[in-house]
Amino acid sequence: MPSKPTAAILTIGTELVTGQRLDTNSTEIALALHAAGFTVTEMLSLGDDVAACARQLERLCAACELVIVTGGLGPTHDDITREAASHALKRPLLRDQSIAEGLLTVIARHRDPKAAEHILLQADILEDATVIPATTGTAPGQAAATPRGTLLLLPGPPHEMRPMLAAFLGEHHTGVPPVRLRCTGTTESDVQLAAQRALAGHRGVELTVLAAPAEVEVVLFDEGAGEEGLLAAGLAVEAALGDVCYSNDGASLAEVVVRRACAAGVRLACAESCTGGLIASALTDVAGASDVFTGGVVAYSNDLKIAALDVPPGLLAQFGAVSGETAAAMAEGIAALTGATYAVATTGIAGPGGGSYEKPVGLVWFGLVTPKGTSTSCRSFPGDRAGVRIRATRTALDLVRRALPEAQ
Ligand code: ATP
Ligand code: MG
Repeated sequence: MPSKPTAAILTIGTELVTGQRLDTNSTEIALALHAAGFTVTEMLSLGDDVAACARQLERLCAACELVIVTGGLGPTHDDITREAASHALKRPLLRDQSIAEGLLTVIARHRDPKAAEHILLQADILEDATVIPATTGTAPGQAAATPRGTLLLLPGPPHEMRPMLAAFLGEHHTGVPPVRLRCTGTTESDVQLAAQRALAGHRGVELTVLAAPAEVEVVLFDEGAGEEGLLAAGLAVEAALGDVCYSNDGASLAEVVVRRACAAGVRLACAESCTGGLIASALTDVAGASDVFTGGVVAYSNDLKIAALDVPPGLLAQFGAVSGETAAAMAEGIAALTGATYAVATTGIAGPGGGSYEKPVGLVWFGLVTPKGTSTSCRSFPGDRAGVRIRATRTALDLVRRALPEAQ
């Protein structure tokens, strides 16, 4: 197999190196490059300093086939990327008249007479570079030839960078897209071992296992297996993972729940205490959720659990808010209120305070209503408040997923 082309990523912005903004572009671009068949050898962030950026660009362009830069393509004084690239490649910037004309409407929105001069800088293109049109912003991207390959300049805002990167990689795609298997209700080591065992007879597949709270993702990259080989490996790993694997096409857990509910023609609802609306938020993130999700109630206090969800006060007094009895009553209450056939409820102790010997921080009770009746379960989650809440949210969604018939 020929060796893969190498790539480097340079993110430019003083806001990045002063910790005011998180550099998400590097991670996103590295993932896309890896999937497109490049070996990323370096990721670097620099402040808005022309000389420093030019120096590093010169070095990176000499070392790698592809160098991707993000940030500093806008119209303000700190947007120095064009100038730095011009120094590094020793190539002039030439004003592109058709881009300049396109910027006239932007200029018209400004009062300061100096604004035009700055805005027009976005029409300055490296000599012989290819323009990547801006679809979601005003600054275009640029792809310039270097002695080793290509220098790609992209805007900093992720929503502007993303479509340009996709357009560029669409033309320069050298690899087979990776297989992604998302799992929940399992551990990173169990997934790793199951995947490794399933891959024993498959050559040329690289395995990556990524863990997040209550979520483990398996990514299989082509390292010589080819498209068919990678698909076969994906099927083998998916079969080995069994029902902890909820998606093989990148779909989120909430998307899978919505898909299954749509296919089954049923309606969903939730009653949330410790998850504070995160379940409803995850479901309403999915386009088309309105077909199946009736809604939810965040019933944090006992009073609201009684008033909105009809949880009997005596039950709360006897078993406490964090109990299977309360979780079941909450789920039944929201099902009755909304007419949903599937309802899930959460009540737990997210911490850091509020725990006791019998009910420690991290304890969460779940109530589930399905056409077969009401059931409860409880889990003890590790982690801080945010971690407990997200784990409880994913667990609740997974309970609903497992209760729903599989979409065909
Ligand atoms: P603009 O025309 O918006 O100024 P630009 O290409 O000049 O675009 P920058 O000025 O460098 O981009 O950054 C604009 C904003 O984009 C930053 O404030 C930040 O919110 C976001 N951004 C920049 N670089 C990154 C990065 N590496 N990761 C995530 N977000 C980034
Ligand atoms: Mg800018």
